[in-house]
Amino acid sequence: MPLISLRGISKHYGGDDGTPRAEVLHDIDLEIDAGEFVAIVGASGSGKSTLMHILGCMDRPSSGQYLFNGEDVATLDSDQLAALRREAFGFVFQAYHLIPTESARENVEVPALYAGMNETSRQTRATELLQRLGLEDHLDNRPSQLSGGQQQRVSIARALINGGQVILADEPTGALDSETGEEVMDLLTDLAAKGHTVILITHDYKLAARSQRVIEIQDGRMVGDRRELRQGMRCNEGMRCKTETASRRRGDDSSPRPTYNHHSAQLREELRDACRAAWRVLLINRARTLLTLLGIIIGVASVVIMLAVGEGAKRAVMAQLNALGPNMLHVGPTSPKTGGPRGVITDGDIAAIAQLPEVRRVMAVVRDMALVRYGAVSHNYRVLAATEVMPEINRWPLAQGRFYTSEENRNVAPVVVLGQLAYRRFFPDNTDPLGQQILINEAPYEIIGVLSEKGAESGFSDHDRRLYVPRRTGMVRLFPARRNESYLVVEVVSSDLVQQAEQRLEALLLERHGREDFWLNNAAARHQAMLATRNNMTLMLALIAAISLLVGGIGVMNVMLMTVRERVREIGIRIATGAHQRDILRQFITEAALVSLLGGAIGATLSLVIIAVLALVGVPVALSLSALLGAVICAVVVGVVFGLMPARQAARLDPVVALAGE
Ligand code: ADP
Ligand code: MG
Repeated sequence: MPLISLRGISKHYGGDDGTPRAEVLHDIDLEIDAGEFVAIVGASGSGKSTLMHILGCMDRPSSGQYLFNGEDVATLDSDQLAALRREAFGFVFQAYHLIPTESARENVEVPALYAGMNETSRQTRATELLQRLGLEDHLDNRPSQLSGGQQQRVSIARALINGGQVILADEPTGALDSETGEEVMDLLTDLAAKGHTVILITHDYKLAARSQRVIEIQDGRMVGDRRELRQGMRCNEGMRCKTETASRRRGDDSSPRPTYNHHSAQLREELRDACRAAWRVLLINRARTLLTLLGIIIGVASVVIMLAVGEGAKRAVMAQLNALGPNMLHVGPTSPKTGGPRGVITDGDIAAIAQLPEVRRVMAVVRDMALVRYGAVSHNYRVLAATEVMPEINRWPLAQGRFYTSEENRNVAPVVVLGQLAYRRFFPDNTDPLGQQILINEAPYEIIGVLSEKGAESGFSDHDRRLYVPRRTGMVRLFPARRNESYLVVEVVSSDLVQQAEQRLEALLLERHGREDFWLNNAAARHQAMLATRNNMTLMLALIAAISLLVGGIGVMNVMLMTVRERVREIGIRIATGAHQRDILRQFITEAALVSLLGGAIGATLSLVIIAVLALVGVPVALSLSALLGAVICAVVVGVVFGLMPARQAARLDPVVALAGE
């Protein structure tokens, strides 16, 4: 059975889609046996390359049948064709077609990578082949660092790495000077002698004459098929060929059998290779990469920063709200707008308010500044004369001693409870203050307790600079002039009843006083409104940030489209050497993902730095890890989604067109 058998193969381009029909190959019948060294010769434009593409399963004939090893190639799907190209064929092109970003050795490894050969096998084989071809000193050179002859030898090594049962060489010496061309021809002759089937395509009859069989093509038709004239002279070599073919079939290959990966291992290695390739492309196009990255960096950083600042602001408001109490109302006397004397909140008012069903507790307070003296130290402090519910209503426990009782309030007892900072000023040595007499406006008061530190929790340290005396003590003894200025702190049963309580309270006082001689302050409602605006603002800023992330994604798509266009040739090479469509897809998606991951990581780092700086200058920020991770993941997703279209474009390229492309 012949290795290759073409029956009535024709190929035409165009015709169906309105383009002019170009008949390129007509009714080619051809059989090639394993181990033959065949030259296909013809003038330029006669259809040789087209024939080679069909032979190499890179292109399908318009009609006719192609049997490879007895199997009809037309019945194979694209994956099987990729496998056949990879395992049976090795291509050598006039233009070498090496991947410019990869080293000589990596170029040789490409077909083995797609064949799933594991890394060590791949590297040893590639190194060995390159050594055999005299390139041991150039393993790590890029194609641009190699001469034409060296590049062609690299491409021959690449053709051989998976075995290279059939070497298809299209004008392999076309771009070389005659001496280097000779060397390449010697190599091919040598390969033929070693049992490879070599199909040499050339327009040069002299070169063709070096093979055993010359097939001549003119205008797409086979016009000659003759065994070499110098048969006698070649015969001995031919004999040697036969024996060598036999020995090769027994496996004289000196290198150890390559080992192949399991599917998952192969996937891993291909991904790693794709990452490496992507990384190099990014490095080579540094400026462009940077600009693309910038879009994503700004996107990710702004998302994270906006969220952190928004959340920080929200937490600050929440903290204030909690410090004030989320369900507190304040009521106090004032001069009515309509004129007349200033209002007074009476004990009767207090009792009536306390009766409201929405109200849990009422604290009446009178306050003023007073000179406080203990020993040699004296200082002005704000003294609050409040009812005994103060610690409960403000959720403010004592650090030492006790708070005054309602009885002490009623009895106008001269007792005082100190705030933390006041205590520390008068008792810097932490001595026991309880039972000591302290002078307030020159009258003695007994210290019965010290409040815990409030500022630590709420951020309002001025709370800790207060002193508390019983309400009636304040009104009667300390500042009788202010006795009518009690204001009330009203604790509502729950924070969602604050609005309702406010209305009830207002109605009640209006009814009792007959005029509006009081103020009502709903701090909680104000804070809640503030919180809502902050939330909206955060949402809006995050939205803007997300849009910038999207714009970054569009940048990725743009760059990927450019990359695909620039690397059409590389894609062609990869497909010709056996890459599946999905390998190409994977590679370009990996590139997109890598750019966006890199951008995301840099953006996240940048945002951390900026957030740290903001925190240092005192802007309230709250960094959330989920926002950070979320933004990076979003960036990668955006990159992949926007990279998908260009990647599909790349994967769908026709290898023949791609190889011809610039
Ligand atoms: P050779 O390799 O012998 O120089 P080719 O096989 O490259 O010739 O091309 C043979 C003929 O087919 C040429 O006339 C060329 O213009 C034509 N041809 C090749 N590819 C295409 C194509 N994709 N569309 C239309 N015509 C094509
Ligand atoms: Mg050609």
